[in-house]
Amino acid sequence: MERPKLGEVPRQNVAELDPKIRSKNFEEVTLNFDEDTAVKEALRCIQCKKPKCVSECPASVKIPEFIDLIAQRKFLEAASKIKETNSLPAACGRVCPQETQCEGVCVVGIKFEPVAIGKLERFAADYERAHSQGRPTKPASNGKTVCVIGSGPAGLACAGDLVKLGYEITVLEALHTLGGVLIYGIPEFRLPNELVAYEIENLKSQGVTFITNVTAGLSKTFEDLRKDYDAVFLGTGAGLPVFIGIDGEHLCGVYSANEYLTRINLMGANNFPTVDTPLIRHKKVAILGGGNVAMDACRVALRVGAEKVYCIYRRTEKELPARLEEVHHAKEEGVEFRLLRSPMEIIGDENANVVSIRTQVMELGEPGPDGRRSPVKVEGKTEDIEVDSVIVAIGTTPNPLIAKRVPELQTNKKGTFVFNEENMETTIPGVFAGGDAARGAATVILAIGDGKRAANGIHEYLSK
Ligand SMILES: Cc1cc2nc3c(=O)[nH]c(=O)nc-3n(C[C@H](O)[C@H](O)[C@H](O)COP(=O)(O)OP(=O)(O)OC[C@H]3O[C@@H](n4cnc5c(N)ncnc54)[C@H](O)[C@@H]3O)c2cc1C
Repeated sequence: MERPKLGEVPRQNVAELDPKIRSKNFEEVTLNFDEDTAVKEALRCIQCKKPKCVSECPASVKIPEFIDLIAQRKFLEAASKIKETNSLPAACGRVCPQETQCEGVCVVGIKFEPVAIGKLERFAADYERAHSQGRPTKPASNGKTVCVIGSGPAGLACAGDLVKLGYEITVLEALHTLGGVLIYGIPEFRLPNELVAYEIENLKSQGVTFITNVTAGLSKTFEDLRKDYDAVFLGTGAGLPVFIGIDGEHLCGVYSANEYLTRINLMGANNFPTVDTPLIRHKKVAILGGGNVAMDACRVALRVGAEKVYCIYRRTEKELPARLEEVHHAKEEGVEFRLLRSPMEIIGDENANVVSIRTQVMELGEPGPDGRRSPVKVEGKTEDIEVDSVIVAIGTTPNPLIAKRVPELQTNKKGTFVFNEENMETTIPGVFAGGDAARGAATVILAIGDGKRAANGIHEYLSK
């Protein structure tokens, strides 16, 4: 196929499941390009000499190069090209906020719609999985050992790069399932678990040892880990939910988004009607917050049988921090947005069950130093919304479990590990950190970038 003139071919779309049907099941919402459509979309890329998309990508994926390989129908080579810098392309193709990263600076997007970089990344990754050439094998060992704590994207990326260099890697995971937020947080209709499991199997075939149900700092002391391994990577994430501190957060029917999503994703609470849990009895659910976590909770609530789902957010739609695609999908599926509303109090009945939520009506004030307009109260104006469940999705912080027990491991005000940006080393030599544990709740691609940078740092440290 010939490269079309700029703007001649519109951005190619992928099919999506019907909102009415999909909002009742957990099937993946967004489908994949077929080969011809992927090639057609790839040919829209103008192959910039100084590609801004690469510099905007936290993992510096070689975007024009992999897209050019797709255009040449070299799909497996395209996947390998991505994997040179991003070990989880099937996940990133699905969940990265491309509109504020690579696609946000795509030159084609100045006049026309940007190249669908995320969807092409997903296409290449899914093609590779479907046409797998067999599992990678174990490289020769260099005799040095590294303990990776946490099996989220940061830990997996770090383990993946180090194992290739011959390190003996042990990943410790506190939960019974591997994958971090990719498994326990992000629901299957956005990121099917099998994709993450596939990458974990690849790491196992290269010799990475995974041990689940081990909480580093508790069931294994940090001191023992320091003695047993030549270096340690802390990829422990930011799994501790933050609550608002309003009255009524103790009531029955109030959950943190983390608990709510974990109960569904890891504990099968969505397997109704065979499983009976309080989660599936709620019919009117309010989700507090406007990020990706809030969108996931809203869309899950619909899928487990809620008839009314309200997303309550203090600013306007323009300021919603969630990915545009998630907001669009949530609206299509029937989530009602109650914008410019700030939660004041959760109201319960005599049995301590939630019956409503009182919200303060807000308006946008002057922009702050970051350019964002802050919400301010409209005095005397409140709104009560009748609900029987409230899910708090306003953020998370790192779990202080390890930091509390190891005073030399410095943290800053937000509880994140203090680290050196270049090599991800913490305040203890030989101990490295990355992902949400180091940055606070962020994104998958940042966690992957950190894991890879830490792998480099560890390699340098152990090569001295
Ligand atoms: C619901 C939800 C939706 C999201 N949606 C998006 C999205 O659309 N796009 C995007 O880019 N990002 C999204 N994010 C954010 C993204 O998932 C995180 O930034 C990313 O997973 C961070 O990776 P990590 O490896 O640092 O931590 P995590 O993924 O949190 O993994 C940390 C792992 O460490 C384990 N652990 C913690 N402490 C210990 C210990 N002491 N011992 C052993 N194991 C331990 C935890 O159990 C966990 O498995 C979302 C987050 C959530 C919660």
